[in-house]
Amino acid sequence: MSALPVSSPPAGRYTPPSIAGDYSALTPKQTELLTIASRLGREKFAPRAQQIDRDAVFPFENYADLREAGLLGICVPEAHGGWGADFATYVMTAAEIGRHCGATALTLNMHVSSTMWTGFIADDLDMTAEQRANHEAHRKVHYRRVVGEGKIYSQPFSEGGAAAAGKAPFGTLAKKVEGGYLVNGKKIFASLAGAADYYGILCTLDKPGATQRDSLYLAVDKNGEGVSVTGDWDPLGMRGTVSRTLIFKDVFVPEIERLIPEGLYAQAALRWPHMFATLSPTYMGIAQAAYDFTVQYLRGEVPGTPPVKRRMYPTKQIAVAEMKVRLEQTRAIFLQNARAARVDPSKEIRLGLYAAHYTIMENANEICRIAVRTCGGQSMLKTLPLERMYRDSRCGSLMLPWTAELCIDRLGRECLYEPGEQDEQAVL
Ligand SMILES: Cc1cc2nc3c(=O)[nH]c(=O)nc-3n(C[C@H](O)[C@H](O)[C@H](O)COP(=O)(O)OP(=O)(O)OC[C@H]3O[C@@H](n4cnc5c(N)ncnc54)[C@H](O)[C@@H]3O)c2cc1C
Repeated sequence: MSALPVSSPPAGRYTPPSIAGDYSALTPKQTELLTIASRLGREKFAPRAQQIDRDAVFPFENYADLREAGLLGICVPEAHGGWGADFATYVMTAAEIGRHCGATALTLNMHVSSTMWTGFIADDLDMTAEQRANHEAHRKVHYRRVVGEGKIYSQPFSEGGAAAAGKAPFGTLAKKVEGGYLVNGKKIFASLAGAADYYGILCTLDKPGATQRDSLYLAVDKNGEGVSVTGDWDPLGMRGTVSRTLIFKDVFVPEIERLIPEGLYAQAALRWPHMFATLSPTYMGIAQAAYDFTVQYLRGEVPGTPPVKRRMYPTKQIAVAEMKVRLEQTRAIFLQNARAARVDPSKEIRLGLYAAHYTIMENANEICRIAVRTCGGQSMLKTLPLERMYRDSRCGSLMLPWTAELCIDRLGRECLYEPGEQDEQAVL
């Protein structure tokens, strides 16, 4: 596979770089996926992004393109007909999509997580032979739906309490019944509400004394009896995610819809922490896009705007230099973290993961802030993408389980305490 540039503007114009910084360090599969994502992003997603944002509607057309390109199966193992992308390959591709439409990248992440958690993450977990065989039979059904039928999965686990932050069992309950489970509960901020074919919910097995170890991961058919979508959706940013509320009232979920064996979610959460760090690639993409826009704007090269150059002013040059420094810091930690992802990471990798997730989310918003200030008034009109990036970028740090605050909480605690350590009494 030849190393293709991310885009090919006319000669003499700024050429946006690869999201990975340099194509030469990529595998052939990574180059191929980034090339596809870049083409779709530039030609299809970017032109549609303004309307999706304005109307707060789900990007169905983008999903038709993703489906046609086979990207819905990016993390489905090759043996099941997918691309078999590993963690690093997926997050780079997601970041490339995020450059062009944040809402498409963020919702695709919810879908891809369902295939990643059941795919290479589940492969790394300890299971009995019976659990392994059972898991293989279950995921075959789900992968066939994704790869063969183009079905979309979402990932609603937020409930408005402490569960999504990992501090309490999920309030949505699944009672074991003949042939499956009976589900009752509510999920807030459920991206792809009404758009996904299956909602991949996290819930708790309904039994006395249930804890987080009794979490279940089930796929609920959007048309199932007792499933409904409520509430409106008119947020600051990431408007195309359409993250409305889901209600489950005595919903029967057949046993085959269990996405990983009972009790295994807790093991995955403990041993594969990078599974929660797949939201930040979207924001890596937005950071790159805000920088690219600024360079193009100051060079007078933004399509549809007068070719006025502003690059000769020293203050603009300093601002772009500051943005570039921050962008390269963000990319470095993004790539380092992407390549470090594994089962049972060392303490240093785990701490680096929190630092990376925090840095990407916060820097994306800071880069957008500098971009708006530097480009000025005309750049923040709704006919241009920068103001959308600015709003979308603010949403990253709010997302559980690892909000910016919770990353700092975890870092502070885990830097100072080894596992199992606690203080006998508070010292004032
Ligand atoms: C655009 C968008 C799309 C989303 N899509 C999805 C989705 O598809 N699926 C999904 O499950 N969720 C999704 N979410 C929801 C998101 O993960 C949060 O659950 C949601 O934003 C509600 O957060 P809150 O700030 O109201 O939470 P609150 O519970 O009010 O928490 C407020 C803040 O307090 C801190 N906090 C919370 N609990 C604790 C604790 N126990 N200890 C210490 N600090 C704590 C956190 O920093 C948190 O941000 C989405 C959110 C957004 C903005």
